[in-house]
Amino acid sequence: MSISKEKAVENLDKVITKVEGARLRVSDHHIVKIIGISKYSQSEDVAMLYKAGQRAFGENKVQDLKQKMTDLDELPLEWHFVGRLQKNKINNLIDLNPTLMHSLDSLELAQELDKKLESKNKTMSCLLQINSAKEDSKAGVMPEEAITVYKNILENCPNIKLKGVMSIGAHVDDRDTIKNSFMVTKSIYDELVPFGAKYCSMGMSGDFELAIACGSNMIRVGSSLFK
Ligand SMILES: *Cc1c(COP(=O)(O)O)cnc(C)c1O
Repeated sequence: MSISKEKAVENLDKVITKVEGARLRVSDHHIVKIIGISKYSQSEDVAMLYKAGQRAFGENKVQDLKQKMTDLDELPLEWHFVGRLQKNKINNLIDLNPTLMHSLDSLELAQELDKKLESKNKTMSCLLQINSAKEDSKAGVMPEEAITVYKNILENCPNIKLKGVMSIGAHVDDRDTIKNSFMVTKSIYDELVPFGAKYCSMGMSGDFELAIACGSNMIRVGSSLFK
């Protein structure tokens, strides 16, 4: 059963209202982009969110991204990739030409991706994923090495267009711990703004208002939009 038009409008309105409140508490000029994460939903659900007004969507598997992009190729959507990228899927992702890849999680992956981009004469806009809460279950570079890795990619991977950073908030109930993890990423982002960083992608359904309060300007919202 796919989501109804009414439910899609209601969900999107609720998210937008919360985002508006949170961003205005930061500043009138703080703009936040909403990426609808459709990984647990079907293409028809994405089409409903599109009708409700949402334009940017993201997936965490290359195969699912390809499926939805193909199903919905008539719609003027932008597509983001937010999942772990396996080496054997790099070529497939390049061919899909996503608007932004949020999950560049190591220098090694960057070098591999850059080499394949180079051979196809393509570029890809990417964010460096930071494991700000230092969780074993999460991908990403450690906060201490984030600046060095970012600059290394800028210098040595000319086909990767680095546009900022991404983090997933700490996987705990304690708000202060989640907030700390967001602050870690925000301070790294601030240091990288002089080097061209534009996006600080953090905040999901459970914590996007907190992420925005901490300076996020791009949130990845799944269940709040699609359920
Ligand atoms: C699934 C996912 C989201 C969205 O999660 P919700 O809690 O459903 O909003 C955001 N970012 C990434 C990387 C994800 O995998």
